[in-house]
Amino acid sequence: MADKLIIVESPAKSRTIEKYLKGKYHVEATMGHIVDLPKKEFGIDIENGFKPKYVVIDEKKKVVSNLKKKAKNYSEIYLAADPDREGEAICYHLKNLLSSKDKKIYRVLFNEITPTGISKALESPGDVDLNKFNAQQTRRIVDRIVGYKVSPLLWEKVKRGLSAGRVQTVALRIICEREEEIRKFNKEEYWTILAELLKNEIPFTAKLVEIDGRKVRIGNKKAPIAIDSKQLAEQIKRELEKGNFLIESVKKKHKKRNPLPPFITSKLQQEAARVLDFPVKKTMRIAQKLYEGVDIGDGPVGLITYMRTDSTRISKEAIESARAFIGEKFGKEELPSKPNVYSAKENAQDAHEAIRPTSVFRTPESISKYLSKDELALYSLIWKRFVASQMTPAIFEETEVKIKNGKYTLEASGTVLKKEGFLKVYNPGVGKDKLLPEVEEGEKLALKNIEAKQNFTTPPPRYTEATLVKELESNGIGRPSTYATIISVIQNRAYVLMKEKKFYPTALGELVNKLLVSSFPKIFEINYTANLEKELDGIEEGKLDYLEVLRKFYIEFERYLKRAEEEMVSVKRNGVPIGEKCEKCGGEMVKKVGKFGVFIACSNYPECKNTREVVESADGEDANGEKKTCPKCGGELVLKSGRYGKFYTCSNYPECDYRESLNGNGNGVKQLDKNCPQCGKPLVERKGKYGKFIACSGYPECKYIEKEKPKELDIICPKCGKGKIVVRKTRRGKVFYGCSRYPDCDYASWTLPDNGEKSD
Ligand SMILES: [Zn+2]
Ligand SMILES: [Zn+2]
Ligand SMILES: [Zn+2]
Ligand SMILES: [Zn+2]
Repeated sequence: MADKLIIVESPAKSRTIEKYLKGKYHVEATMGHIVDLPKKEFGIDIENGFKPKYVVIDEKKKVVSNLKKKAKNYSEIYLAADPDREGEAICYHLKNLLSSKDKKIYRVLFNEITPTGISKALESPGDVDLNKFNAQQTRRIVDRIVGYKVSPLLWEKVKRGLSAGRVQTVALRIICEREEEIRKFNKEEYWTILAELLKNEIPFTAKLVEIDGRKVRIGNKKAPIAIDSKQLAEQIKRELEKGNFLIESVKKKHKKRNPLPPFITSKLQQEAARVLDFPVKKTMRIAQKLYEGVDIGDGPVGLITYMRTDSTRISKEAIESARAFIGEKFGKEELPSKPNVYSAKENAQDAHEAIRPTSVFRTPESISKYLSKDELALYSLIWKRFVASQMTPAIFEETEVKIKNGKYTLEASGTVLKKEGFLKVYNPGVGKDKLLPEVEEGEKLALKNIEAKQNFTTPPPRYTEATLVKELESNGIGRPSTYATIISVIQNRAYVLMKEKKFYPTALGELVNKLLVSSFPKIFEINYTANLEKELDGIEEGKLDYLEVLRKFYIEFERYLKRAEEEMVSVKRNGVPIGEKCEKCGGEMVKKVGKFGVFIACSNYPECKNTREVVESADGEDANGEKKTCPKCGGELVLKSGRYGKFYTCSNYPECDYRESLNGNGNGVKQLDKNCPQCGKPLVERKGKYGKFIACSGYPECKYIEKEKPKELDIICPKCGKGKIVVRKTRRGKVFYGCSRYPDCDYASWTLPDNGEKSD
């Protein structure tokens, strides 16, 4: 029997490793984290040096006792969770749980799950990195403090069940601020003048760029001259038609385009979204599988290096094999004289490598039959990007032609690819060639047609998953191991909606964001959050003391928290004034939060019952730039949030009373194929605080709610001995056991009565 034990976190990784080390090592998996802060209590003793209370996660108790049992048989244990902060934390807790005097416990880092990667790591086993663990633990503690202290404040001031998270709130803030920019945006009109000119019957297009040597506005950027009316555009058009088009200058230059560095996590997420249309979560799920091992005919092998990294570093061996491959496949022509080196980012977490294939000779074609369509697509992207990163630049010939017509200057440009270089393998979005006929200075050109085109400046775009990751990254927020989590957590709250792959804050999200940002201006500030991430890096590098970081954070946080407890607007009691008077009683109109979201009400409630809905920001065009239309009258539909959730109403209200609830995300309601037994209106499935329930669409006039039938167990009630035990849920969703004869018998217990007799 093997006398050495390796512990990893996933069964797939364990299978791949076991295959290589058959007989020599036994491999076990933890299935992720095994120890964490307790779920139902704060778990941090702030006065006592921020001492965390770590407990074995409930669902992992079996895994842990099994590991403890197994560990007894081995004198050497190798902890091999993923090589990042979270992996280090798993190893730290494992070591605590398994250590004993007669055992040696090592930490090993598998950057790739291949025979070489594994044997290299096992040759130089180290110890658990305390600095790295402390960086993880500090983040966990800070997040816990923010979550546990700020959420109750929201329950008190706004609504029960709301939550606030440290980084998610910053992400929400970024989304809300963009929405605000879009709302404030005033579009401006500008016209562009395009002349279609002929050289030897070959047409090409030139654009008006200057008048009397002063730049003309083209696009959002302001310029000295804006052609801001049809009248002006038409006048210019007429003058150009009368004049002559003469070539003033022809400039040609060669432009080099260098290949991009191999992937780091954020760039992989962005490119997979651009090229493959993958959501961030999907990209990470597939990358994980490629890293942990895929069977390519001869048992599983890790196909890529570790996918959570912010380093563009490439090992010497990998560069050498890439160069060998390129030389063989494309010839010397595409091989630079020296390897391309990409400087590591300043805050690269550690000596990780970039994401690359574990063997460049495993081309996508050669293993395509072993991979699913999506796995192959992602592997190809990683493989191509890596190979391209060691190839020669692409060279373009750019031509810029200036054309004079009186006081007007027009410009035409062309691009021709002269040398493909790395583009042979990877195209980072370079368009097709734009050809221009050969022209010479002083030449006169014939005019075919002039077009004056109306344009408007455009507001900044809403974020997609990929652009939000990019924004977080460029602001120094989040790390390779957290981007995907931030993106999914923010979508699981009722604070944002995803529509056409874009983020829209909900009315509730904007309200909560405003309250949090004004009460904790610094804590949820982008720079502050980025700085805290830097401090975590500092802890990992051993430059900062984690307790010092925690203390500094807490002093500041506590000050804001105390102030917020007193000063934060109570939306529950008073609402948030919207600067409008009630048309019924003259009172102040305020935003309030009901069971299903935000609505507007009169502050003189209950004397005045004037309420109305708010229009949601996610209202607007669908993919084709068209508004949703009313099936009853053809009018436009408007997305609103009201007392009873989000719904579309017809813009022709009150003439048309069409109304449609919003399915899916947020507090959506789904109409069911079943009618209310009390009033006959259709039943709907609603999402409440404690899960889904079925109610009448006629609410609030009809209050019918369908009761879930409790599950009956084959156990006799220990109290009355007649009824059977049934599984029920409290209003909060907690499971308890009661008697089927309720209310005649009031037996209730949190635990299953185990000494109850079986009925037969
Ligand atoms: Zn009123
Ligand atoms: Zn209608
Ligand atoms: Zn009803
Ligand atoms: Zn009973």
